[in-house]
Amino acid sequence: MKNSLEKYKSKRNFKRTNEPSVISQTKKDKNIFVIQKHNASKLHYDFRIEVNGVLKSWAVPKGLSTNPSVKRLAIQTEDHPFEYADFEGIIPKDEYGGGSVIVWDRGTYENITAKDDAGNQKSIAKSLIDGHLSVYLKGKKLKGGYALIKTGKSDDDRWLVIKMKDEESDARRNPTKTEPASVISGRKIEDLEKEE
Ligand code: MN
Repeated sequence: MKNSLEKYKSKRNFKRTNEPSVISQTKKDKNIFVIQKHNASKLHYDFRIEVNGVLKSWAVPKGLSTNPSVKRLAIQTEDHPFEYADFEGIIPKDEYGGGSVIVWDRGTYENITAKDDAGNQKSIAKSLIDGHLSVYLKGKKLKGGYALIKTGKSDDDRWLVIKMKDEESDARRNPTKTEPASVISGRKIEDLEKEE
């Protein structure tokens, strides 16, 4: 884990972007997740879950669905520091990931990955390596189980994220469309861009 943020740091010039440069290893009883709506060269949603003090990250072009029959592509990206979960703002246009970012959803999550044959709960870190994990989200917009499944070989960053069938699944909701605002500031991506 020690060097997992080197890629994050190497891609950014912290004199130019106000994204977090501090890196801490926090320890709390609950792990957090965050989904940031990011209007970069292409609009996407960055889904991040806290694992061993860093944020494991995927770029999800269409965002997460609440409908269990919808599979969404998720491209795994570099680990981000824990502090990134609070980041909302504008990354300068010429910098890596240039564009505006809001905290679209946020909350805690639980590991609900299936137990192994011996009945032991697999850790999220191990499940990430195996390419299959399930998390139960407790966000403001998104709740319930989501499965993440790696589709390609080990050097392929493509995963699928799928809502699991449970009491929170709902084929009629479409929160990326109907609930566009930040859960921490109430601002929309367009509001940020107007303020610039
Ligand atoms: Mn992004």
